Amino acid sequence: MIPRITATRQVPAWQVELSRAISDPAALLQQLDLGPEWLPGARAAAALFPLRVPRGFVGRMRRGDPHDPLLAQVLPLHRELAATPGFGSDPVGDLHAMKVPGVLHKYHGRVLLVTTGACAVHCRYCFRRHFPYGEANPAGGHWSRALEHIAADASIEEVILSGGDPLLLSDGKLAALASALEAIPHVRRLRVHSRLPVVLPERVDESLLGWLADRRLRTVVVIHANHPQEIDASVAAVCRRMAAAGIDLLNQSVLLKDVNDSPETLIALSERLFEARVLPYYLHLLDRVAGAAHFSVDADRAQELAGRLQARLPGYLVPRLVRELPGAPAKTAVAAVFSPF
Ligand SMILES: *Cc1c(COP(=O)(O)O)cnc(C)c1O
Ligand code: SF4
Repeated sequence: MIPRITATRQVPAWQVELSRAISDPAALLQQLDLGPEWLPGARAAAALFPLRVPRGFVGRMRRGDPHDPLLAQVLPLHRELAATPGFGSDPVGDLHAMKVPGVLHKYHGRVLLVTTGACAVHCRYCFRRHFPYGEANPAGGHWSRALEHIAADASIEEVILSGGDPLLLSDGKLAALASALEAIPHVRRLRVHSRLPVVLPERVDESLLGWLADRRLRTVVVIHANHPQEIDASVAAVCRRMAAAGIDLLNQSVLLKDVNDSPETLIALSERLFEARVLPYYLHLLDRVAGAAHFSVDADRAQELAGRLQARLPGYLVPRLVRELPGAPAKTAVAAVFSPF
């Protein structure tokens, strides 16, 4: 997305920053002082799902460390190309659930709108990396069918803006959508799931707070941070700003092998989030999407990690360990297992 500069409209700073995101594997490796041995694999995997990462996020990575936990989430690797049994292209049954284009109505009382296919960062573990956004995307200004679906079903109390990343849409579009939703009497809550406060905190500016805060609708922002190193001072500052504007803040993470699959990391993540006024919400088991098998943590290990967190943290800082099973009426809880030390 190249923002157009006109005499009357100033390009927001976040769009400028977004347009500077790194998409060339060689540039990323150079920035981090990493050797060319990573390049062929990165190029091959990027041909299937391109590299994309904002510079500010790269700035939080350790230079010279190919196993940095932030880098591991974005660097395309050769092993993504290996087919793994059980890892497919629609792991959570999204295509089946989409009755109106862009509307996922799987659970009682809440619908999820796929507002855009674009993201500011391309996470290698993403469960939507194969999603046919072209067919699903109602954001070309055509919200009417989605709004009709919501208006016609009085059981819908909460609308979730998802994607892709909904905060890549302009504030003008989002404000119009929020106002249209607010005009539906049975809608009470607006929830935004976005990784932008973490990967591009510049996105949380006056203009965004202008349409998101002070609504009749109760507003919830669910940020997506997986590792405490992602939450630097700039991220904490924008989270505190949203909290001060009356927005409720939650975090969801994905449990990722060699990124955050240790009790120390997950404990530090919860503590760092809380300092930024964000409560941990979900810790997801990885969706079994093709190309992401190397991030998988098995359920036994996940349950043991959940037990360690519960044994160490106050209950409100323990994220719920869940997995998404196609056809289930909600995310499915995975029980903690306590180990004797
Ligand atoms: C995960 C998800 C939700 C939200 O579920 P909560 O448990 O309320 O966070 C809603 N709709 C769809 C389609 C989802 O995948
Ligand atoms: S930000 Fe979310 S939707 Fe976008 S690539 Fe990352 S995990 Fe996927």
